[in-house]
Amino acid sequence: MRADSDGGVGTIAAADADARAATWQRVLAEAITDPAELWRVLALDPALLPSALSATRAFALRVPRGFVALMERGNPRDPLLLQVLPQAAELLAVSGFSADPLAEADCQAAPGLLTKYRGRALLVVHGACAVHCRYCFRRHYPYESLPRGPRWWAAALAAIAADPDCHELILSGGDPLLVPDAQLAELIADAAAIAHLARLRVHTRLPVVLPERIGEELCRLLARSRLRCVVVLHANHPRELSPAVAAACARLRAAGCLLLNQSVLLAGVNDDPAVLAALSERLAELGVVPYYLHALDRVAGAAHFLVDDARARAIHRELSAMLPGWLVPRLVREVPGAASKLPL
Ligand SMILES: *Cc1c(COP(=O)(O)O)cnc(C)c1O
Ligand code: SF4
Repeated sequence: MRADSDGGVGTIAAADADARAATWQRVLAEAITDPAELWRVLALDPALLPSALSATRAFALRVPRGFVALMERGNPRDPLLLQVLPQAAELLAVSGFSADPLAEADCQAAPGLLTKYRGRALLVVHGACAVHCRYCFRRHYPYESLPRGPRWWAAALAAIAADPDCHELILSGGDPLLVPDAQLAELIADAAAIAHLARLRVHTRLPVVLPERIGEELCRLLARSRLRCVVVLHANHPRELSPAVAAACARLRAAGCLLLNQSVLLAGVNDDPAVLAALSERLAELGVVPYYLHALDRVAGAAHFLVDDARARAIHRELSAMLPGWLVPRLVREVPGAASKLPL
């Protein structure tokens, strides 16, 4: 075969990859942020719009169009929509729900570096997210007060370098994959230079809500690191796992990443053993291991998502009876001051 006939196929593949690299920032920039537009696109009842507008004054609407495309038109109870839908209920003060339920303000070893648990350190590398999840425990996080960029990571990496007990660096946020590839490459290289670090874990919602982000360059830099790369996705409902998401997962697995998923147990979204079982089955198809099912953090504005502990345990018990053990996520809660996330 002539070299150039083979080269044609390679050129098409490379052009595809380039298009992906050029588009993720555009897809991100084109996310829906205006409730009126979301209402139009999904043909929702205009009577519900004022409630959404009042809630967005405290926490803006933000949802990529690809995620909206997975929602059912005309259904205000759609489980994907409910995760991003601003509602007046968020504005009610509910006792037991506060701005910093995890007391994270108390455990920063360096700016943006949380060292709550032994052996691993969590670095908030980016303040923003591609999607605004209404239940998010970081919805009141003072991201603006954090310094940004590689110079700031230097202090966190120095703190990790000084702690020989730390074997895993967790990149979190916000969404750490909103950081451009060139800066991520620098951060990962600096982390890999710390001899006692063995693993790099990335907690991200982007493979699910913006699968275009999982491009060639990102996969290359994860694949070539000496660190063992673990990517923890965040999907709550099986319908989030579209063919485009499956393809993004396949690219990450081809890059040698171990894929895990964490979900939050959310009233109206996935508080049903059949839905959670379908989620686990779909994750298995994508080569993703269900890791955690989190009880909701009691953050102000999220009380309408609460599933009480007794129901959470009953749902989890039923789920356990439906699936192989490795497809049952651990039902946990985060308790300030505890040495790990605690089983419910
Ligand atoms: C959740 C969390 C971790 C990771 O905990 P694992 O149980 O290892 O998944 C690490 N650091 C912080 C601050 C966390 O909140
Ligand atoms: S992507 Fe994660 S950090 Fe961002 S709003 Fe959603 S739950 Fe919160």
